[in-house]
Amino acid sequence: MANPHPYVYFGDQIVAAEAATLGVASSAVLYGLSVYTVFPVHVDAGAASPAPTAFRLDDHYRRLEESCKIIGIDQFTQEWDFGRFRTAVSTLIAQNAPRTDVFVRATVHVVESIPGTRVRGCAIAVSMFVYDAVPIVPQDGMRLKSSPWRRIPDNAIPSRAKVNGAYVNSVLAKQDAIDSGYDDCVFLDGNGHVCELSAANIFLVRNGTLITPDVSCDILDGINRRTVLTLATEDGIPVVERTVDLTELYIADEVFVTGTSSGAAPVVEVDGRLVADGIPGPISQSLRKRHHAALRTDDVHGWVTELTA
Ligand code: PMP
Repeated sequence: MANPHPYVYFGDQIVAAEAATLGVASSAVLYGLSVYTVFPVHVDAGAASPAPTAFRLDDHYRRLEESCKIIGIDQFTQEWDFGRFRTAVSTLIAQNAPRTDVFVRATVHVVESIPGTRVRGCAIAVSMFVYDAVPIVPQDGMRLKSSPWRRIPDNAIPSRAKVNGAYVNSVLAKQDAIDSGYDDCVFLDGNGHVCELSAANIFLVRNGTLITPDVSCDILDGINRRTVLTLATEDGIPVVERTVDLTELYIADEVFVTGTSSGAAPVVEVDGRLVADGIPGPISQSLRKRHHAALRTDDVHGWVTELTA
């Protein structure tokens, strides 16, 4: 991971990173029974009033709540609300005082020890840590490989919930792609339809229309996916959310991906086939610029939250 910062939120306080540990017998460790989100914090080190800002913090909080609800982690909403979350994030950022943009990973862990495979009523602990905002995929044109591993379906472990344990599915597929010389994978579902990457949503452009798998295609309902759909609509680009075949990626005019850790990054090759002429296309490039700007300043949608400790 890119440069973890020294202070961590854990157990309702800020502690040194080494002190934030989970028990080996906790459900979080035994079963991967934790849910999380990652959001960007922008720091304008040159600005007169350099209050850091978080992008779509309330949406990230809501998705964390929804992940808990899906999995049955009922103690989170008993103990937390958005105000508490925002204060914890602000305090953590103030303590670490980053000089450049960072990501914050906030996790709700089930910390009950040896409870057996159950969840309701189990004790939780929230952790948050900060690290440099370094993208996890190339930003100038990445190469994707369709995965031999299928995406976990909604009726097994739902992709719509960000469950730590489910990320073994992503690890298998991403490692396979890397081992084969690619940058990331394209997950397909059991019927061969396109889902998403290991940790990003996917879009294609065909005849000027922006197309992306809909939210019932075993994907995470990505916050950057929603952002790009909004920006594209505002720019007058027709948008369609529907089932996508793998071969549609092969003949697309443009392909790009979105995610907190990926940005809005163009794809130039899928399964050994160039996307169009292998150069990032105009719609990908313009949405990439719009997305990049929205992360930092946004007066229109209310997407940016100032973090004042
Ligand atoms: N899909 C998966 C599986 C992910 O892990 C992520 C990263 N959180 C995304 C999509 C993109 O989601 P977001 O835009 O909210 O970061």
